[in-house]
Amino acid sequence: MPVSFPFENIYATLPSQCFEPVQPTPVSEPELIKFNESLADRLNIETTDVTESELATIFSGNAVPDNAIPLAMAYSGHQFGNLNPQLGDGRAILLGDLYDKNSQLRDVQLKGAGRTPFSRGGDGRSPLGPALREYILCEAMYSLGVPTTRALALVRSGETVIRQQRESGAVFTRVAASHIRVGTFQYFALRGDHDALRALADHVINRHYPEVKNTSEESGKKYLNLFKKITENQAKLIAKWMNLGFIHGVMNTDNMTVSGETIDYGPCAFIDSFNRKKVFSSIDQQGRYAYINQPAIGQWNLTRLAEAMLPLFMMDTESAHSSSDEVEAAAQKQTAQKQTAQKQTAQKQTAEKQAIEDATQVLNDYAHIHQRAWETGMAAKLGFSEVQEGDRQRFEALTDLLDETRVDFTLFFRRLNTCAASDGDLSQVLDLLNAPEARSSAPLLQQLKEWIQDWQGALAQRESLSSAQQRMNQSNPAIIPRNHQVQRAITAAESGDYEVFEKLLSAVTQPYEDNPEHQEFEQPPVPAEQVLRTFCGT
Ligand code: AMP
Ligand code: MG
Repeated sequence: MPVSFPFENIYATLPSQCFEPVQPTPVSEPELIKFNESLADRLNIETTDVTESELATIFSGNAVPDNAIPLAMAYSGHQFGNLNPQLGDGRAILLGDLYDKNSQLRDVQLKGAGRTPFSRGGDGRSPLGPALREYILCEAMYSLGVPTTRALALVRSGETVIRQQRESGAVFTRVAASHIRVGTFQYFALRGDHDALRALADHVINRHYPEVKNTSEESGKKYLNLFKKITENQAKLIAKWMNLGFIHGVMNTDNMTVSGETIDYGPCAFIDSFNRKKVFSSIDQQGRYAYINQPAIGQWNLTRLAEAMLPLFMMDTESAHSSSDEVEAAAQKQTAQKQTAQKQTAQKQTAEKQAIEDATQVLNDYAHIHQRAWETGMAAKLGFSEVQEGDRQRFEALTDLLDETRVDFTLFFRRLNTCAASDGDLSQVLDLLNAPEARSSAPLLQQLKEWIQDWQGALAQRESLSSAQQRMNQSNPAIIPRNHQVQRAITAAESGDYEVFEKLLSAVTQPYEDNPEHQEFEQPPVPAEQVLRTFCGT
């Protein structure tokens, strides 16, 4: 029995300029490395009695399900601040979209399945290493409670991919609420194609933000409300990254979804030893996408989105005025055409001014929403049920101290639990200052002690110890996909050993458990294991 997908192919009903139909290019020897059965089940994908080799055939692109309409999506993007009007899916092919068990529409996409009309000079392929990294990272993020694309399957292609060196090829199947990006809006705005822009925005509303359809009738600003929702989701998403020490690494506008999911795991990594200026990506020479810059880059990207959506905001304003326009139009019947034209120009200018003002307001709100979300996350990490006055200073002072001491970010928060009681023992936490990469001095040690004692006092006043500790354990993971472990899994997989990957995957998908079997994954790298640079999959 073949794999059966309940594809609806709704994206394929959008105007034809939104995508290019394309078939995957078969690979020579597909071998299934991993299939995410529980996700398949949630997606209503039927795989009973399907063999591994049949799964490999489907998830390598060697056979396309009958009801799929494979396509490559068109998009533009600002890459490291520079506009590239013509990007699009160069190595990803959307098989189709389908409803999951929660009646949510999901995209199923093959990454590395061959060239598309958007491939430019690229080969349309993926090396095994980055595909494996994406599998681990996105499933870890999901288990950590961060909105993200998911991993459905990983297939080794049996082919060689040439990058800096020869590498094994792979096809990775990912699932998203949608793969629509900030850059997708930019694509149509840049081409002045307002019909496609509007069709895309309406699709995004139906798909991700149906509530906008209802609220908009009062304010009459449907597209502005859509922009508000996208902004809100991004502000909250990036706060989660910051709370967990995650660095995306390539926050180009083509790598930012409008759904609010994390997408495109390239040179991303979690911080071990904390440093707010940390950068892993080998191509991020200027540190544009450093840990600390992520919230501001989110706002920068959303500003590009606002620019792209401006014609839509103006449609909002114009439609809000349309009834009074009609009355006026009737009264103007007698007036000279020239006057009408002048008036229309003036109205357009007013609409534009209004649209810019509205969008600017939303962009300003982004910073507040992000800050609030970050503080709420920090509060939970420290056992507090809510943010109270003075907490912001407490959180910022701690971030400063972590930065100065360079302690392991994840272990610090996880261990803080051991001294949550007002007379709690600080030794396990202070021990982190003895790590090779940590910086310690008597004044720093003193400051950290004082910060902890102050926090212990606040916690004792505000929360019961057991609920605070429970909250902390659910907010501070024991296990994150540490770079050196991911690297180990990749190295082993390259020589055909997938056990290390399996073990790591099992650990990172139970991040809040204290499982003795997973203890090795809790440890930071020893100096020789440290991964200083990560590379894009391209
Ligand atoms: P990324 O760095 O993965 O976000 O990709 C940036 C752009 O380059 C997107 O348009 C990709 O589709 C395209 N691209 C990346 N790698 C390849 C490849 N191997 N072949 C073709 N296009 C690619
Ligand atoms: Mg990308």
